[in-house]
Amino acid sequence: MSFDLVLFGGTGDLAWRKILPALFQAFRHGTLPGGGRIISVARDDLTDEQYRNRIQSCFDNVELAKRPAPDEFSRFAALLHHLRMDLSQPQDYVRLADMLKARNADSLVMYVATAPSLFTTVCEQIAAVGLNGPTTRVVLEKPLGHDLPSNRAINEALRHVLREDQVFRIDHYLGKPSVQNLFAMRFGNALFEPLWRRETIANIQITIAEELGVETRGAFYDQTGALRDMVQNHALQLLCAIGMEPPINASANAIRDEKLKVLQSLKPWSPDTIGQHVIRGQYAAGTSQGHAVAGYLQESGVAPGSTTETFVALRTEISNWRWAGVPFFIRTGKRLAGRNAHIVVNFRPVPHPIFKTPAGAANRLVINLQPRDGLELHLLAQGAAQHQTEPALVPVHLNLDFDQRFGTERVGAYERLLLDVIAGRLNLFVRSDEQEEAWRWVEPILAHWRTDPHGPRPYAAGSWGPSAASAMIARDGFCWSEEM
Ligand code: NAP
Repeated sequence: MSFDLVLFGGTGDLAWRKILPALFQAFRHGTLPGGGRIISVARDDLTDEQYRNRIQSCFDNVELAKRPAPDEFSRFAALLHHLRMDLSQPQDYVRLADMLKARNADSLVMYVATAPSLFTTVCEQIAAVGLNGPTTRVVLEKPLGHDLPSNRAINEALRHVLREDQVFRIDHYLGKPSVQNLFAMRFGNALFEPLWRRETIANIQITIAEELGVETRGAFYDQTGALRDMVQNHALQLLCAIGMEPPINASANAIRDEKLKVLQSLKPWSPDTIGQHVIRGQYAAGTSQGHAVAGYLQESGVAPGSTTETFVALRTEISNWRWAGVPFFIRTGKRLAGRNAHIVVNFRPVPHPIFKTPAGAANRLVINLQPRDGLELHLLAQGAAQHQTEPALVPVHLNLDFDQRFGTERVGAYERLLLDVIAGRLNLFVRSDEQEEAWRWVEPILAHWRTDPHGPRPYAAGSWGPSAASAMIARDGFCWSEEM
């Protein structure tokens, strides 16, 4: 199958750090279909040769094992081309159309890795030059809009020029091997389904913690914040994967229908519940990995006195028969005490304990997404001290480390998603109605914060966020996973 992949923004940060290294990995693994072209588009006037030379540097920061050897690089580089275009100028699209139509590849992928303000223009202009035929697939990066109205406006504009199944809204968390394993664990094994409900599960926690601050992206982040950057998309997609009903089959629409129902079932917000169940924070100066680090307000690109949140912790519920009353806690932030992403499913304790157990001990399933990828099942077992008259149980855990089990050569998130786009598989991409529903759910929080005089709570860089987040979860009688 021949393909042309047009990388709008082929000289940008995302192309450099994620997309080009992922395409190289697919090339190295032999999974990138042969006979393909990767066409970078940006305003820089570069020849193909100059672009190929330039992209060598995009491998400088990837781990050693993922860097190409010189001969591998030249074979990969032969796929790369560069076209100078100003995407705001309709006449520039004619040259792109000429280049693509001359070849008429089986699969035409348009990856829009430019500023979101160009998304609709790019889609409208590719349609204007007749590049929106049935084999065209358009990949859109987040953020798709800033709120519900802007998200709807983009989706509406897309609908005029593309069918829904031509639009690939990327949420790279869905491409992570551990998230696919979550689907495999839930829907490929009989073991968990009978336990996956309110009668046995006490609470579920989703944590996406970063040690880094805003780095060089202060200006972008200051307009965005943790709720828009992480909760509206990644965290809610994880919540859907955990909470959804088994789909009728593994097709994209069957999966997306079930995820949509979860989003539609999320408990609506009121000013009272936002006040009690949503905690926003902003990092102050502190210590990270042994070094003193600046607070958010001192970061470059951040507006003086900014009230943008760098931390969110919230409690929600899925209002349906399976989950009614079970709290789902979401927590994400920058400059936290560790870099990890995980989902913790806390089971209820046994109804009638006959053994002595450590206080609060119960079964727990941990789905690790970052930095390692795997599953841990926490159980209680008879310890070594057999002589005790009163049997006492100790916590133990079964640990399935996917990196160890399947090797580190496993397909990364962007690699997997790019191959899916080329093949036209939509399973791991987000449909417009899911995205709109997620925006609809966060809208009241954004509106509340706009008029809330208190602003975000400060927390020391290198901590686990404001103490109010621990107080919030404690009101339900629980604690965050690192405090267990
Ligand atoms: P970036 O570094 O600013 O790159 C933007 C790219 O678009 C550059 O190649 C730029 O090249 C090109 N471009 C801008 N205006 C253009 C125009 N009028 N005509 C032609 N090309 C133009 O941005 P980025 O960080 O890569 O982000 C790209 C998209 O991915 C954004 O939507 C962002 O929100 C999203 N995203 C990025 C990351 C990340 O880690 N970087 C993560 C998630 C999502 P020239 O200026 O030379 O034309």
